Amino acid sequence: MNDRIDPDLLMPPVPLRDSRGRELRDLRISITDRCNFRCTYCMPKEVFDADYPYLPRTDLLSFEEIETVARLAVAAGVNKIRLTGGEPLLRRGMEKLVAALAKIPGIDLALTTNGSLLAKKAQALRDAGLDRITVSLDGLDEAVFQRMNDVDFPVAQVLEGIAAAEAAGFANIKINVVVQKGVNEGEILPIVRHFRGSGHVPRFIEFMDVGSSNGWRMDQVLPSAQVLDMIDAEFPIEALGPHSAGEVAQRWRYRDGGGEVGVISSVTRAFCSTCTRLRLSTEGRFYTCLFAHEGFDLRALLRAGADEATLSAALEGLWTARADRYSELRADGKGRTVVPLKRIEMSYIGG
Ligand code: SAM
Ligand code: SF4
Ligand code: SF4
Repeated sequence: MNDRIDPDLLMPPVPLRDSRGRELRDLRISITDRCNFRCTYCMPKEVFDADYPYLPRTDLLSFEEIETVARLAVAAGVNKIRLTGGEPLLRRGMEKLVAALAKIPGIDLALTTNGSLLAKKAQALRDAGLDRITVSLDGLDEAVFQRMNDVDFPVAQVLEGIAAAEAAGFANIKINVVVQKGVNEGEILPIVRHFRGSGHVPRFIEFMDVGSSNGWRMDQVLPSAQVLDMIDAEFPIEALGPHSAGEVAQRWRYRDGGGEVGVISSVTRAFCSTCTRLRLSTEGRFYTCLFAHEGFDLRALLRAGADEATLSAALEGLWTARADRYSELRADGKGRTVVPLKRIEMSYIGG
């Protein structure tokens, strides 16, 4: 064998498996805990006010540290990386991070954004090597959208961001819609009609009880089955299989060829058994579940000068011991007994 060729570059790594046999495949990296929106279901104004203790700059992982962690995770099996936040486009110079991560072989690099700065940044992100974009948009009606983002941000600017992303070469853009009963279920069909035929894919997400500040109540969850019925009544749809193992959205296509829609039923149809996601918080803690309340402090190791073998061993220890399945326990009515009320916030862990 030619000893100049690194075998790791020829064969994808064998992914780590957790205690339930789930592979490590996805890494979601939160690059800021700040946001210019105050979505009522995520960063309600009353909690995330001027006195909120956001992380000081020095606590944030640097781009170099993030790249080190990303390479470590890829060597352990990760093949999808998603940048998130807070609002990731608020982090200064984040295109440089995208460019560095895009050089890691064998990964699909994606971003989730509220779209507010996308019109300005889409081309730079594309040029830096970003593969895919998801834009969150909870309504097309100005009053509904502004009531949800709670900072009077206009719908038109998010739509401009989507158009700019399209012009920059991003196709198949996912449009994330958090559905809250009594707030924006009237936006489901307008969004479906708007994006049908565009090649972009709306994904309706059940409102989740993540964090401890969004005042979640089960009676505000509109089950995805009802969302699908509403869509099917106007545009008949049929189920599609997942693109990849561990995909959280159930995919559907219009029978007339008008494109796709998806639903993410984290409350009514728990998908813990196929959950392959690891999360890296803004300050460098690993979380093996969205509902975890304690993270593993990787930054401490990084800043103490730990070598690659030590970091890899830490990741291996963490993932192989993983047993999380919060949503399944919630479905069994045991959620609140196993996970304390004080949880990490969505804006800190990135969803
Ligand atoms: N700021 C970016 C955005 O909004 O796209 C990225 C971070 S945001 C936390 C990531 C995703 O989580 C968004 O699509 C958002 O709608 C979703 N999200 C936030 N809070 C949620 C909740 N309580 N239930 C369901 N989805 C939620
Ligand atoms: Fe900000 Fe995204 Fe949370 Fe809305 S969902 S407050 S845009 S982090
Ligand atoms: Fe994954 Fe935790 Fe969500 Fe279950 S509850 S799907 S283990 S993040």
